[in-house]
Amino acid sequence: MKSFIKKHLSKLLVGLVAILALWVVILVTPINGYLSLSGIYNLPIPEEAATYSIDPEKGYYLEKMSEGVYFVSSHSHNTMFIEAKESVIVIDALPSLGEKYLNAIRTVTDKPVNHIIYSHNHNDHIGAAHIFGDNIEIIAHDITAQKLAHAKDPNRPIPTITFENDTILKIGGRTIELAYYGAAHSPGNIAIYLPDEKVLCVIDIAFPKWVPVHEFAVAEDLEAYFGIYEKILAYDFTHFVGGHAHLGSYQDIVDQRNYVFDIKKSAAEVFATVDFAGLGEKAAGIPNQYVGVNFGLNKMACDCEKKVVDKWGEKLAGVDVFTRSHCLKMIFNEATE
Ligand SMILES: [Zn+2]
Repeated sequence: MKSFIKKHLSKLLVGLVAILALWVVILVTPINGYLSLSGIYNLPIPEEAATYSIDPEKGYYLEKMSEGVYFVSSHSHNTMFIEAKESVIVIDALPSLGEKYLNAIRTVTDKPVNHIIYSHNHNDHIGAAHIFGDNIEIIAHDITAQKLAHAKDPNRPIPTITFENDTILKIGGRTIELAYYGAAHSPGNIAIYLPDEKVLCVIDIAFPKWVPVHEFAVAEDLEAYFGIYEKILAYDFTHFVGGHAHLGSYQDIVDQRNYVFDIKKSAAEVFATVDFAGLGEKAAGIPNQYVGVNFGLNKMACDCEKKVVDKWGEKLAGVDVFTRSHCLKMIFNEATE
């Protein structure tokens, strides 16, 4: 080993110097931003954002939100159920919980589950609906029913009761208001509200104490996505179930709205400062024109990300992971709208 080092000492030194030089270049030039992959900020998770520890024996986390109204988490996904006079009403059926959803319900009541409300058609939220058997009313938006009729998935039975815009359910002394505000996440995704208990459930829009995942949780209609915050905040609620992250408060949704609107604003500011003519000239000499386009888009996304991370990095978890994708989505939107 010693003789090897002696023999190759000069080469090893050159290699070391080259690595150091590259590191300095990356640190002191804007390449730093462009090369960085999402997550490079590597920020700590704020204490209050730490997600629920799940007892591996049980496989779920259960929390009472109001009398007979429970929040359930599988760690990756969240949902809720409601105990009515003679039955239980469940919202969604998470594949990540499966039969454990029933175990969680059985810890508080032996009443039969007679109704399930589908928030939307996505498999990761309702893909275990079959566990409740055939003798159950399934309530969903018309569009969700159409999508499920098309999917023909035995794990996601077709709804038996549907509605178009909004409806009010009265089941065993419970009042549940259902409303549709467009494809903010996906067509057919509804708001589920318990006015007496002040509990609101809207899935895959806001991620309490965290940021939305990739591209505003893959929102299908960005205008509807930004518009739905006003609708959500018009409800009077103390508990918010968003399908992921944490059980939320009203203030958590105010924070999330402010975060997503900061991205919108930052993306517009960055977009307004770009010298497209200059970029075009520089890109003209590159045979693969996509290289220049990609560079420009990523530069804008990184500049937008920096502004937002500086402001929200200590407040919300995951700012360092998904802000770039939100910024890039908004920059495309700026370029096309
Ligand atoms: Zn979804």
